[in-house]
Amino acid sequence: MSNLSAQTTVPTTTSTTIVLPVSKAVLWLVGTAVLALLAYYFIGVDQGAYSIFGKDMHIHEFVHDARHFLGFPCH
Ligand SMILES: [Zn+2]
Repeated sequence: MSNLSAQTTVPTTTSTTIVLPVSKAVLWLVGTAVLALLAYYFIGVDQGAYSIFGKDMHIHEFVHDARHFLGFPCH
């Protein structure tokens, strides 16, 4: 006869330590912030009257809903 109760094991939870160097974290955070600010500027700068590519409304129309969502004046 085998003793089954002796073979059962209780699963233990082990935590995994995540090593995140501060220099890498700062690099990722600053890079993300710069890209977000560039996207924010790109969405807001194109008014049509002084568009990036001259008298072209393509960028304005492409990001039109995003402009309204972010509160830029439009029309
Ligand atoms: Zn609009």
